[in-house]
Amino acid sequence: MRKHIVAGNWKMNNGLIQTESLIVELKKQTKASDAEVMIAPTFTNLWHAFQSTRQHDIEVIAQNMHFAEDGAYTGEVSAGMLKSIGIKTVILGHSERRAYFNETDESLAKKVDAALANDIRVIFCFGEELSDRKAENEEVVVESQIRNALFHLGADAFKNIVLAYEPVWAIGTGETASPEQAQDMHAFIRKTLAEKYGSATADSVSILYGGSVKPNNAKEIFGKPDVDGGLIGGASLKAEDFYAIVNAF
Ligand code: PGA
Repeated sequence: MRKHIVAGNWKMNNGLIQTESLIVELKKQTKASDAEVMIAPTFTNLWHAFQSTRQHDIEVIAQNMHFAEDGAYTGEVSAGMLKSIGIKTVILGHSERRAYFNETDESLAKKVDAALANDIRVIFCFGEELSDRKAENEEVVVESQIRNALFHLGADAFKNIVLAYEPVWAIGTGETASPEQAQDMHAFIRKTLAEKYGSATADSVSILYGGSVKPNNAKEIFGKPDVDGGLIGGASLKAEDFYAIVNAF
């Protein structure tokens, strides 16, 4: 059985006070599903969020990290630093990181290695742009993103990898991939993994969908056989909405 995961990507939202109050609201919600629940606040609030969710069924995760262990990288945070405050999972390769911070498959491969070397689980994001889909090129793009950043790994490493398919045209736009489009791509991703690593590994990796998942569409998307959860942006900033999505499993 693959793990179901619902992860809230807070992006660059919420200072300390808002982080505190959103966590208070999150703790009031009732979880009625088997999904693992994660939230990703900004770096400055990770420690606080980690402390305040300690007794609770919410994992605090990071949105990014650098691939170097330490040294002269002003403004960056390493895997070891995340680990030192108890963080066990990091999101890597989000399309906003790729678009605005020049992250490439090559630099992401290094980040993945650094995370895994520190026993940090990776939620690896990828997805095609609208122009790729219009040109019916989405599978080629997605396959190359996965191959370039992950296929140097051995099968064993996939115990600590979660994949997140996020079509760029669906992020923050209110336009979701249809449940069928999500399922088709997730099945393609699993087939790509199976060709490289065999079906036992491919069947064990959770593949999340991200891009305008909301309380009113989560159930249908999560109902698809190869969709194992969601990476939630906008709707993760309201506790009721987020738990409506968590409970859509
Ligand atoms: P969204 O963001 O849910 O606001 O579309 C998803 C994401 O960027 O992970």
